[in-house]
Amino acid sequence: MTRVLFAGLFHETHTFLPETTPLAKFEVLRGEEMFRRDGDGSNFDGFLSRAKVHGWTVLPTADYQAFPSGTVEHSVFEAFWADVEQAMKVLMGEKIDAVFLLLHGAMATDKEVDPEGEFLERLRPLLPKGIPVFGVFDLHANFTRRIIDLSDCLVAYRENPHTDAREATMRAADLLDRCLKGGKIPKQYWRRPPIMWPPTGVGTADTPMKDLEAMARKIEAEVPGVWCANVIAGFAFADAPDVGLSFSIVSDGDPKAAEAALDRLEAEAVRLRKAGSPRDKSVDQVLEEIMPVKEGPVLLVEPSDNIGGGTTGDSTGILRALIRHKVRDSAVVIADPESVAALASAQIGDRVKLRVGGKLNPFDEGPVEMTATLRSKSDGRFTLEDPKSHLAAFGHEIEMGPSAVVEHEGIQILLTSKKVPPWDLGQLRSQGIEPTKLKVIGVKAAVAHRAAYNPITKASYTVETPGPGMSDLTKFPYKKVKRPVYPLDEIGT
Ligand SMILES: [Zn+2]
Repeated sequence: MTRVLFAGLFHETHTFLPETTPLAKFEVLRGEEMFRRDGDGSNFDGFLSRAKVHGWTVLPTADYQAFPSGTVEHSVFEAFWADVEQAMKVLMGEKIDAVFLLLHGAMATDKEVDPEGEFLERLRPLLPKGIPVFGVFDLHANFTRRIIDLSDCLVAYRENPHTDAREATMRAADLLDRCLKGGKIPKQYWRRPPIMWPPTGVGTADTPMKDLEAMARKIEAEVPGVWCANVIAGFAFADAPDVGLSFSIVSDGDPKAAEAALDRLEAEAVRLRKAGSPRDKSVDQVLEEIMPVKEGPVLLVEPSDNIGGGTTGDSTGILRALIRHKVRDSAVVIADPESVAALASAQIGDRVKLRVGGKLNPFDEGPVEMTATLRSKSDGRFTLEDPKSHLAAFGHEIEMGPSAVVEHEGIQILLTSKKVPPWDLGQLRSQGIEPTKLKVIGVKAAVAHRAAYNPITKASYTVETPGPGMSDLTKFPYKKVKRPVYPLDEIGT
């Protein structure tokens, strides 16, 4: 019986966010609990289903997983390692034939920029010599030489959005089967071109990822000995030496052929580098074009403060622009518990001095000082209008915390205590704001708001404002990333 050790570590860390991610934010599965995910359509399920087909005995250790957020507290990594180590102690003396890992690859803690590499470095000495370490990882990984040197075959997702996590995991499991049956452990080759692309530039339906994935498939089909070629888009909202794009090739063939294939991928990435760095129009430019708005609502979509991606929800870029351009009949939502508290004793209709938003977003100009009229106050609870909304994952009753609507020069500002992604129109309607009657609505999202807003929207513009989700990487205060790196530095010709 083949016995495969199984572990998972999954977090995409945005190191420029002004928050840390504690253990409480992680879903932790230990030992047999990991089998709970059998049949759920995830990467877990992909592995467990192939393990059954190949007749493996799975030895579960631990899995730690959380939604994208700020720098992970290092104690989370140590807790994960303690769980894996404990599970390995129980297995001591028993036969282990292989390791299979579910990784993200873009985790960072306050002490370690490469926790996945650190994990492998601690794991290897506890394993029998020369056993294969295989696994799957997210296309947004920031890979390192250490990860490559300490593993044998890691397979990346090929689709972004990631519709193929399960399929990629099954492919990796089948490659492990090939390795165990053939008795030959492949080698990994890695290349990191000096390029970082923002998340908005690495969808696989568009250039450059579409072209690079096609080239990788060609390499897999044509270069003898290649088991797998990975296009690793990287996660640019992190400051670490190896942040950004890289490629890996798993091969049991000629090392020169693998390096030549990496040369081709690198040259293509350098050639297409500009296409991976999209720039959104400035909010001023868009408002100049569309004002006066005849028929609304027109959406100003603000990926720089994409709450669903873990940003602060309090950026003032759109609010400032609405004020500058005197856009009446408009609305924005800003998470600002201080302003809500400042309205505690105010009566409806009162004029109140406020400092709105800009308190957490590290790129913001800061709070907007204004005198505004209080229109309504509530406990901030609302029921989803669309039960299939993206928000349904959090239940059908959503809590924004104590909330208030104030109006300033025709702009309605919904102030909430908690940040809530704009994925359901019930958010505005429950607070007395009727979105269909507005000319302009600011939306703190990138893509996921569309299901709710598209049916009522007359036009939509993605705009650039200062915030942790902005596409212009030159505005982030990188200190650790290896230079030169595009787009911080010009490269190529
Ligand atoms: Zn991803």
